[in-house]
Amino acid sequence: MNNFEPEKLNKNWTLEDSIATYNIDKWGDQYFSINSNGNISITPEKKSAKIIDLFKLVEELKSREINTPLIIRFNDILKDRINELHEAFSKAIKTYEYNNNYQGVFPVKCNQQKNVLEKILEFGEPWNFGLEVGSKSELLIGLSLLENQNSLLICNGYKDTKYIEVATLARKLGKNPIIVIEQKDEVKRIIETVKNLKAKPLLGIRAKLSSKSSGRWSKSVGDNSKFGLSIPEIMSTIKELKEANLLNEVKLLHFHIGSQISDIAVIKDSLQEASQIYVELCKLGAPMKYIDVGGGLGIDFDGTKTSSNTSTNYSLQNYANDVIATIKDSCQVNNIDHPTVISESGRAIISHCSVLIFNVLGTSHVSSEIKISDEKPKSLIIANLIETFYQLKKLTKKKVNLSEIIELWNDAKKFKEDCLVAFRLGFLNLKERAQAEELTWACAKEIANNLDSDEIIHPDLFEITETLASTYYANLSIFKSIPDSWAINQIFPIIPIHRHLEEPLCKGNFADLTCDSDGKLNSFIDNGKIKSLLNLHEPEQNKDYLIGIFMAGAYQEALGNFHNLFGNTNVIHIDINQDNSYKVKNIIKENSKSEILELLDYSSKTLVESIRINTESAIDQRHLTIKEARKLIDQIETSLRKSSYLSE
Ligand SMILES: *Cc1c(COP(=O)(O)O)cnc(C)c1O
Repeated sequence: MNNFEPEKLNKNWTLEDSIATYNIDKWGDQYFSINSNGNISITPEKKSAKIIDLFKLVEELKSREINTPLIIRFNDILKDRINELHEAFSKAIKTYEYNNNYQGVFPVKCNQQKNVLEKILEFGEPWNFGLEVGSKSELLIGLSLLENQNSLLICNGYKDTKYIEVATLARKLGKNPIIVIEQKDEVKRIIETVKNLKAKPLLGIRAKLSSKSSGRWSKSVGDNSKFGLSIPEIMSTIKELKEANLLNEVKLLHFHIGSQISDIAVIKDSLQEASQIYVELCKLGAPMKYIDVGGGLGIDFDGTKTSSNTSTNYSLQNYANDVIATIKDSCQVNNIDHPTVISESGRAIISHCSVLIFNVLGTSHVSSEIKISDEKPKSLIIANLIETFYQLKKLTKKKVNLSEIIELWNDAKKFKEDCLVAFRLGFLNLKERAQAEELTWACAKEIANNLDSDEIIHPDLFEITETLASTYYANLSIFKSIPDSWAINQIFPIIPIHRHLEEPLCKGNFADLTCDSDGKLNSFIDNGKIKSLLNLHEPEQNKDYLIGIFMAGAYQEALGNFHNLFGNTNVIHIDINQDNSYKVKNIIKENSKSEILELLDYSSKTLVESIRINTESAIDQRHLTIKEARKLIDQIETSLRKSSYLSE
């Protein structure tokens, strides 16, 4: 089933070739590599030699009946990310002689899983790392999980009276919630609530910046953005709070310019604008203490270190340096104390630690054995196609002549279209039509086998690879597991987790289990470019072919819905020991079908009962035997208890 001729099978294929094919040394920030067995290995901490074989791990999990699709979360990577973030800020604070601290928070919306948040707070404890919440439910999560009395709880999002009451009273529990005013109408509600409660909340102000952003979330800043107060609104808010005797509680300025900001210039502009607003707030008499620079710290999905949508043209250290230096500059000039710096980096902290693994259920592809009979065909069009094929075969033996190849390929396509017309009009039979299609594939293969990949991306030849592509059926729901890939064309690194000592001879894309035609993965990262096909191996009989989707730890689990009623996949947490053994920590089992149905208000009992009633009438009419009915109901009952994905 190879797309390409067997003689292309390369005995000299090495790990280096695989590394170059999948660019694994460029993305992933050194956490992922390929080991000498040809498997992906994970180095969870940059400063230690701990290493683990991902393929072996998945095999061992399978023997514990934890099957794919599966999310594996590496606690050690999460810890490393949190350490790195804090180290970068400490270094910047030292370099720029900044007279205050960095004290970050994690935005809960990025991953709300209890386990994940507990780990983040545990790893962030030395720095009093806190949480950012954006809704009432998230506020409740934040209050229940945050025990460190020095950590901050930044309260964003739409706030009704209940929200304000809870956040205000929580201050009496020794917590540090800061209510960030982000809409004008919240001011009155806060003043009212405070009057009734006889307690005061800590307050912050979210500024709507005018600096231009870039990338997908550019609309979250600028004069028309959804959140934040404009400068006139900030002025009137300060006035109202002063009159209500609350100005003394205004301690924080917040802004957030969107997620995955790829260009450092955009970050610098907004930092300058925000620092200036901070200074002005101090001058207006607010006892300011904190500046919160929001999220947006990007990660390099494609490894190009550029300002493309899937990369960043800056490092974590550049980011920390710019934040600290810019804020310091504005304060210095105006003789104002340096504020504590808060950031709300979600994506940058949580993306790397999760790996989503799925198995391939099967493939479909164009046939590779195309026989060209010596018999002279009856149809002139078919004869033309055969002639084109032989010309291509001859041509490519010599030096490649691109324009001639393009001409012949255009001929082949034209003849194939003619065949279709002839078939519609009844001049060709089904066998001849099949022959025409096979001949076109044969021509495409002839070209693919003789051109380099950079020649084949010529616009006139582009469809050749598409014509020859295989579809790999993934045991996965894209809508559930990586919704951003469908919703906003977010691209994640995707790579087989084993078999890297073999050349991946097929080019293919993925179709998922859902019956939605959007349920496809057909954009892959190729050294900064985006390609529609990925190099893949031919699946072996009775053996799993396992694919990993990397750096998808942020947002995906929170956004995924029950499209087509595929539920949560298994999620497991792994700790890696010093001797490279590992411990399986928490396992969050996948949803059974009945659980999913019940979430949507279908009771399994009534479902089974209604089918049972149907079987009774079928038995009555002798369409079904009692034994068959029993079997059907047994199957349904068992199936409801099992995974919504395909398993043995
Ligand atoms: C979403 C969000 C974040 C997280 O942004 P990342 O780019 O993931 O770091 C931070 N703050 C606010 C207010 C947000 O809405």
